[in-house]
Amino acid sequence: MHLMSFSNLALPPEILSNLETLGYQKMTPIQAKSLPIILKNNDIIVKAKTGSGKTAAFGLGILSKVDLQKCYLQALVLCPTRELADQVSKEIRRLARSMPNMRVLTLYGGKSLRMQAESLRHGTHILVATPGRLQDHIERGTISLKHVHTLILDEADRMLDMGFFDTIVDIIKVLPTARQTLLFSATYPSTIAQLCQSIQKNPIEILLDTQEDTVDILQLAYQARESEKNEVLLALLRHYNLQTTLIFCNTKMKCDEVAMQLCDKGLYALPIHSGLEQREREEILLQFANNSCPILVATDVAARGLDIKDLPLVINYDLPSSPEIYVHRIGRTGRQGKSGIAISLFSHAQIFKLDAIEKYTQAKITRTEEASLNTTNNVRTVPRMRTLCINGGKKNKIRPADILGALTGKGGIAGDQVGKIDIFDFYSYVAIDYMISSQALNKLQQGKIKGRTFKIRYLETA
Ligand code: AMP
Repeated sequence: MHLMSFSNLALPPEILSNLETLGYQKMTPIQAKSLPIILKNNDIIVKAKTGSGKTAAFGLGILSKVDLQKCYLQALVLCPTRELADQVSKEIRRLARSMPNMRVLTLYGGKSLRMQAESLRHGTHILVATPGRLQDHIERGTISLKHVHTLILDEADRMLDMGFFDTIVDIIKVLPTARQTLLFSATYPSTIAQLCQSIQKNPIEILLDTQEDTVDILQLAYQARESEKNEVLLALLRHYNLQTTLIFCNTKMKCDEVAMQLCDKGLYALPIHSGLEQREREEILLQFANNSCPILVATDVAARGLDIKDLPLVINYDLPSSPEIYVHRIGRTGRQGKSGIAISLFSHAQIFKLDAIEKYTQAKITRTEEASLNTTNNVRTVPRMRTLCINGGKKNKIRPADILGALTGKGGIAGDQVGKIDIFDFYSYVAIDYMISSQALNKLQQGKIKGRTFKIRYLETA
């Protein structure tokens, strides 16, 4: 891993000395690769996860360009959630400690529009906002974006998953075309490529070498004959007893078989592969991502649509056909500062494959015995969340805040019992704490969303 000093960059001295006081001694790999390009005013697409130091990468880019003498909005950061917007504003303010007149404003739903309009009227240099609330201000004419020279889309894949594609495009329509656009995303599905094409100019793509992704992952391997694999898998799930586990098999049929035998043992597992309809696949992926399905048994192709940043455990029920695929699979666990576990089952005849993987990744895969597993844990059979499906979506102008409001308004359930909200063109899905899911179902069935009644049902695919 190559680390570089910030002082190699064309950053003002006061920013450099502040970085030192923050304890940022070296650039993270993402910063080392992206900052020189950002500072040259190029558009970029960065595939980066939370924890990679991406906020400082674009934050420093913004700070190097904002003109403090001009008290109008110059840089806009779009984030999917209020939590991320708060986090980003905090990090930018920390980075700007040596620039006391720098103004950073945060805008998201759930706060008074009037008060926000008032703050906007006082002027800000940098705005961190969620797309829905920013659009509200644009429509009300309470914000001017005509001097924005830098646009950042943070966690762009997540914004698209939440149904913000059109909103983002609408916002960009009112921005100057002469601007720098930086896009950060943990995954790179085709919708992101489509978005980049329409909003960026000759963007440079930044990816980290895949091997670097395996640094924080504990890699284990259990030897088992084909006939013993199911038993070892069950022992592993009992031993680790984690909230979410992704299991890889090499064939569709194996995925079905493995998921079914886990269900027979009382666990909640779903298979996913290309033999399923597109809509079924989307619904299964979203149930896994929103904690309504703790165990997913997937083929490599089907797992591509999966967007989860911090999977604690990945199991290779079947060893993959190449070391590259192995790295790709296990890269779904283990973020910076948070370690993940990747476990592979292998037969005696496959020992050479494990050796080849170790050589490729230059990391040790520890061979372990099944006997060391503690299988007395009571595994949780009910998922933490349950998904409700609403037969209305983007085309009905439904936004996440509308669903949240319908659930939590007037004697409704608490906001923290509501999980991920996914909005598609004609359908929306919301994850609810399993224990109160029937109450939530009633509340939505008897109430209205955006003044309209919609059909609501549990999404149960098993
Ligand atoms: P992020 O990926 O932007 O969420 O950043 C993850 C954490 O890393 C944040 O707490 C940052 O403050 C911290 N961080 C970012 N860049 C550096 C760096 N170069 N050195 C040390 N810590 C950093």
